[in-house]
Amino acid sequence: MAYKPVIGLEIHIELDTKTKVFCSCLNNPEEKNPNSNICPICFGHPGVLPTINEEAIKKVIKTGLALNCEVSKNSKFDRKNYFYPDLAKGYQISQNDKPLVFNGYLNILNEQGESKKVRIKRIHLEEDTGKLIHEKDCSLVDFNRSGLPLMELVTEPDISSAKEARKFAEELHLIMHYLNVSDADMEKGQMRVEVNVSLSKDSSVLGTRVEIKNLNSFRSVERAVNYEIERQTAILESGEKIVQETRGFDDKEAITFSQREKEEAHDYRYFPEPDLPFFELVQDDFIEKIKIEIPELPQSKRERLKKEYKLSDKEVENFVYDKELGYYFEKVISELEPNLSKEKLGSLIKLSANYLITDLKGLLKGKSVSDKDFLITPENFAEFIGLLEQGEISSKSAKIVLLEMFETGGDPSNIIEEKNLTQIVDEDEIEKIVKEAIKNNPKPVEDYKSGKEAALKFLVGQIMAKTQGKAGPETVTRLLKENLN
Ligand code: ADP
Ligand code: MG
Ligand code: ZN
Repeated sequence: MAYKPVIGLEIHIELDTKTKVFCSCLNNPEEKNPNSNICPICFGHPGVLPTINEEAIKKVIKTGLALNCEVSKNSKFDRKNYFYPDLAKGYQISQNDKPLVFNGYLNILNEQGESKKVRIKRIHLEEDTGKLIHEKDCSLVDFNRSGLPLMELVTEPDISSAKEARKFAEELHLIMHYLNVSDADMEKGQMRVEVNVSLSKDSSVLGTRVEIKNLNSFRSVERAVNYEIERQTAILESGEKIVQETRGFDDKEAITFSQREKEEAHDYRYFPEPDLPFFELVQDDFIEKIKIEIPELPQSKRERLKKEYKLSDKEVENFVYDKELGYYFEKVISELEPNLSKEKLGSLIKLSANYLITDLKGLLKGKSVSDKDFLITPENFAEFIGLLEQGEISSKSAKIVLLEMFETGGDPSNIIEEKNLTQIVDEDEIEKIVKEAIKNNPKPVEDYKSGKEAALKFLVGQIMAKTQGKAGPETVTRLLKENLN
């Protein structure tokens, strides 16, 4: 029987708040000047008094509610004691036995595309540490990060593959954006993932786990787990035992390496933080108010977009991943004329989705439709789609119109008129050009009549060129065939 991987995640996320978690220093992740957002409290002077940032508490609770957690009725902070140069006080204010929220879950899609529940053990609030900068012959420390509100989420060991671990991290990242809790930019270290991996043959007995730290991309999460599964399988198959330890991940080589072995759990000598009060979170309206702020979350949005607009999985993912584009798409649809037939509405929706995901996204080049300098109103976009669907403009002209709308914010019908892009809809006029083309191209006409389909394409091309793309290719093809028989 093969070994089955068992994986649990510990994820740290820096919260997006105005100030730090226990003092009034700014929480500015863009600050480049070291040790400029500091005060005696977050700099670790002895005897200073912390106060709790309510915004940070609310953001953890908001996350917890979105992840189906229970909120602790009463909670507290604890001192976690250890020595490290980036921790000036010699202890970190964290939460030990009374996390703000606990017992939740997040459903992700597994590799078979089925929904899989990953239980969340707890989410607590703590302070981030300073940052060490290692130079050639010395190490420097920057305390700007010290005291930033840091949320730690711990899952149960419910994850069973590298792909699932990655999916969990990606979905959580997306939810952070939906909740406006954090940018959770992994490159900037605002979201840091640690994976715990063990193997076992018998799912009722957990194997010895190895913890891998310093994973700073989704790709690293997946690769580190895969490497670790292979490494542990080889050890177990050779009859040896797994050492419980902490390992690092080398991104370049895609391997994990031993950092420190831990015989037993660390003893941090936790005790309740004497400078902060125990607090109660029983006021129902406090929790209710946070609940109201939770928007539709990615998974419900996926299901609704699919049902309501009959979009493909790929289209849905585009609109869920880029939530602003998703909101914009729905605004465009709401600007379409009312009382359209089902078929017509369906084709307008399809066309809108296509143009938003391919053409508009191409123009945006990674920017967002919610940016101030994005000029196309949903109303104009809807009008543009309507004109396209009615055949007012060809798909070729559509690109020109959309670019102009993007650059100037202009109204599509004005642009079409100004640029003289109206598609020729008068069939008599097109037929005249078709007849002329037949007259002027005897060889291709001969070829077509003797069965060479490609010759027809050539003739269509000739006519499209002649009309500067203003004749619909379908009409041209139809009229050509009629006139050639
Ligand atoms: P600790 O208190 O030692 O940090 P936790 O119980 O908090 O341990 O677990 C830490 C993380 O390790 C959790 O994400 C948990 O799901 C995961 N985990 C625990 N046991 C195992 C195991 N045997 N294999 C894989 N992951 C595990
Ligand atoms: Mg732990
Ligand atoms: Zn401070």
